[in-house]
Amino acid sequence: MPKELHHFIAGKRVAGQSGRFGDVYNPATGEVSARVPFAGAGETAAAIAAAEAALPAWAATPAPQRARLLFRFRELIESHAEELAHLITAEHGKVLADSRGSLTRGLDVVEFACGIPHLLKGDFSDGVGRGIDSWSLRSPVGVCAGITPFNFPAMIPLWMFPIAIACGNTFVLKPSERDPSCALRLAELLLEAGAPDGVLNVVNGDRTAVDALLTDGRVQAVSFVGSTAVAEEVYARGATQGKRVQAFGGAKNHMVVMPDADLDQAVDALMGAAYGSAGERCMAISVAVAVGKVGDQLVEAIAPRVRKLKVGPGADPESEMGPLVTAQHRERVERLVATGVSEGATLRVDGRGLRLQGYENGYYMGGCLFDQVTTDMTIYKEEIFGPVLSVVRAPDFDGAVEMVNRHEYGNGTAIFTRDGDAARTFASQVKIGLVGVNVPIPVPMAYHSFGGWKRSLFGDSNMHGPEGVRFYTKLKTVTARWPTGIRAGAEYTMPIVR
Ligand code: NAD
Repeated sequence: MPKELHHFIAGKRVAGQSGRFGDVYNPATGEVSARVPFAGAGETAAAIAAAEAALPAWAATPAPQRARLLFRFRELIESHAEELAHLITAEHGKVLADSRGSLTRGLDVVEFACGIPHLLKGDFSDGVGRGIDSWSLRSPVGVCAGITPFNFPAMIPLWMFPIAIACGNTFVLKPSERDPSCALRLAELLLEAGAPDGVLNVVNGDRTAVDALLTDGRVQAVSFVGSTAVAEEVYARGATQGKRVQAFGGAKNHMVVMPDADLDQAVDALMGAAYGSAGERCMAISVAVAVGKVGDQLVEAIAPRVRKLKVGPGADPESEMGPLVTAQHRERVERLVATGVSEGATLRVDGRGLRLQGYENGYYMGGCLFDQVTTDMTIYKEEIFGPVLSVVRAPDFDGAVEMVNRHEYGNGTAIFTRDGDAARTFASQVKIGLVGVNVPIPVPMAYHSFGGWKRSLFGDSNMHGPEGVRFYTKLKTVTARWPTGIRAGAEYTMPIVR
């Protein structure tokens, strides 16, 4: 019997009450490993109520004390890192080393949030007028919600709630229904670190829970990460309800390979960035733009590497690439590959139909490599979110930049070159949020901020780093005068300083 998961509300495990459940799979074997309750409006409202009840005391807790909680949380994540990494691999499928890496990139944000007393320091102006001082400070926004995707079950929740709670907010997290166990474990660890009940709550579920979060007037801010169609809707609906919303969507990241690039380095970079985590990363490279004559050489160098990719269960240390997350997702990816063939792209390596001995029911697929892809093809336009790399050709640098800029998505991009001038011009001209120079996946460290442009991000605020602190706080500016006995009398005009 698969185990039954729960919600986590006001510091306690709460069984599902709506009667609706979803299956959680082990993608390596295809077995159902758990049933996850899908919250109804009632359970979601209970989580919001718990967060609201915890808010006044938590917001009034001095920032250094809130930081100490995060220091303890940090230690607990470190000491439970193997358990958490195994949870990620068991439900997502990615290889263990990658699970460990993604957990560390979440831990980085906890470490950043440990510095919250410094980050919340306001500005002070001494003497904006005679005997008048002015200062600004950042206050918590209130109850915040996070809705997260399947592809980073630890990292993306950790990009949100540590900063939100460090800023004095309380939080309701709605993780992906496909791999919810890691978020539940993180909430328990935060409680063990000393968080008061209700500071972090987890409700599991689907659209019903998201709807309840978006329409409840007690929720002040919503962070969403997922596909573009849902991101756009969440942004519009949340904003209409008067909430602060940042909604991160899909991507189609191009890596431009210039003729002068170190080809071995570029090929290594493409292999990791296109096929790592089976391409299920919002920063995966899914398009290689070969500039000038480098295309044939590039394809000839990648194709044998793709054929040799070691695909297997994520828990096997020999595996370089694990299975896809669900059978349904694999079907979608395979369907898109078929579309690419029917639209005339050259499928140099076909990874479809891979079955592994002993794991016949797992959701495996080998790497796919397309050549001669053009910008009007579905496989170029749509996000595939699988181990599929498309090679397109651009006549020159300007053509490559134009192609990157014309795509509807603007999450990440990279250029591989030895030419500093080309790299600098590229970084300056591309309409993309995250740019790599000889770095294929330029995900910024926790003390910078993460976010795409165009239809990869709705809202004007990036995640974590300084922008995360701004998103989870409201600015207040105080102007103060202490009476000195001198009366200025009534002033009927705008006060000015001369
Ligand atoms: P998804 O949009 O299916 O789901 C994301 C979240 O939204 C989940 O919690 C899900 O339960 C909920 N949801 C799904 N459908 C909904 C609906 N109709 N109404 C309300 N809520 C709904 O995304 P996914 O498949 O879990 O994740 C993959 C996607 O996320 C890819 O498109 C990927 O590019 C994107 N992603 C983007 C970033 C980024 O930073 N831009 C990061 C990671 C993933």
